[in-house]
Amino acid sequence: MIKFLDLQKINLAHQQEIEEKLIQTFRSGWYLLGKEVKTFEDNLKAYLGATDVIGVANGLDALRLILRAYMELGIMKKGDEILVPANTYIASLLAISDNGLVPVLVEPNPETFNIEISKLEEKITPRTRAIMLVHLYGRVVWDKDIEKLVTKHQLKIIEDNAQAIGAEWNGIKTGNLGDAAGFSFYPGKNLGALGDGGAVSCKDEELGKTIRALANYGSNEKYVNMYQGLNSRLDEIQASVLDIKLKYIDSKNARRRAIALEYCSRITNPAIVLPPLPEKDTEHVWHLFVIKTSNREKLQNYLSENEIQTLIHYPIPPHKQMAYKEMNELSFPVTEKIHKEVLSLPISPVMTDEEVEKLIQTINQYQA
Ligand SMILES: *Cc1c(COP(=O)(O)O)cnc(C)c1O
Repeated sequence: MIKFLDLQKINLAHQQEIEEKLIQTFRSGWYLLGKEVKTFEDNLKAYLGATDVIGVANGLDALRLILRAYMELGIMKKGDEILVPANTYIASLLAISDNGLVPVLVEPNPETFNIEISKLEEKITPRTRAIMLVHLYGRVVWDKDIEKLVTKHQLKIIEDNAQAIGAEWNGIKTGNLGDAAGFSFYPGKNLGALGDGGAVSCKDEELGKTIRALANYGSNEKYVNMYQGLNSRLDEIQASVLDIKLKYIDSKNARRRAIALEYCSRITNPAIVLPPLPEKDTEHVWHLFVIKTSNREKLQNYLSENEIQTLIHYPIPPHKQMAYKEMNELSFPVTEKIHKEVLSLPISPVMTDEEVEKLIQTINQYQA
């Protein structure tokens, strides 16, 4: 059986180091806002080249807190609009609407699945304050045109980097391209905790300070509350494990890249539309390897009969969800088509060469 993602195997690759650290953190008697979080924040900051990194409880909170901080700083207010790709994971939208801001959906490019940069400007209104760029499936979305656009319209760029830690554009890490970025350390992400975790990176010290306060009841000084904040902290146990795994992220991403290149060069079945190779000057981190096919159910059943697990990211677009009833009648044909055709094949740093080989052979023998 080729599992979609073998989390146990991923974490057991560092069993001794992680277990020793867990015991040490357990015995330290200090579980929140301590040296493990500080060390991880500093190391992630150095890795990204960011000005500030703040550990938070999860990826959704990271994005919520960035927007909330912009509101506290008077840069955004309720009813303002944030552009966001229509085919993203719903959490990107939840972060926006939770703050009383309005998600304005933009169609993706049907090949790369990333937001269509040329369609951004037509969606900008006097109420637009930011673009939320999502490096979906680990593929970088960035372009010089974005820089021109945000300067011209005075917009902020928030990166949803939940799926793309380690990705790069011209040597700059995603999460350090825009003004601020949210990271998720959900166990299945490229850098996964043993539970929930997240982080914000940003370039502005004042923004960082505001987010740090907001994530801790709105307080930078114990019992002195500047804002009506939340409790959204990364804990010491998760930070200590993440700090170990951060050391290996580049080699794990390199293994994903090698597998993706094998798939791209050797899956030749005409029923399968492969994702394009990464754009030049970018490093893709292949959080997911997403193909398109017209009869998805048939392919998924065939692979399952051949003991290959696949998943769909995502079966229903946000604007068709009950949670966003007000958008249900809107039409995003590119997004809707993507949601009908995509299928994610197994890809992970712990897949063996034999598994990669079996997957390629099996899929090439599929008859549509
Ligand atoms: C996982 C994910 C999130 C949310 O992260 P959590 O840690 O699960 O809250 C947000 N956006 C995208 C694109 C994601 O993939």
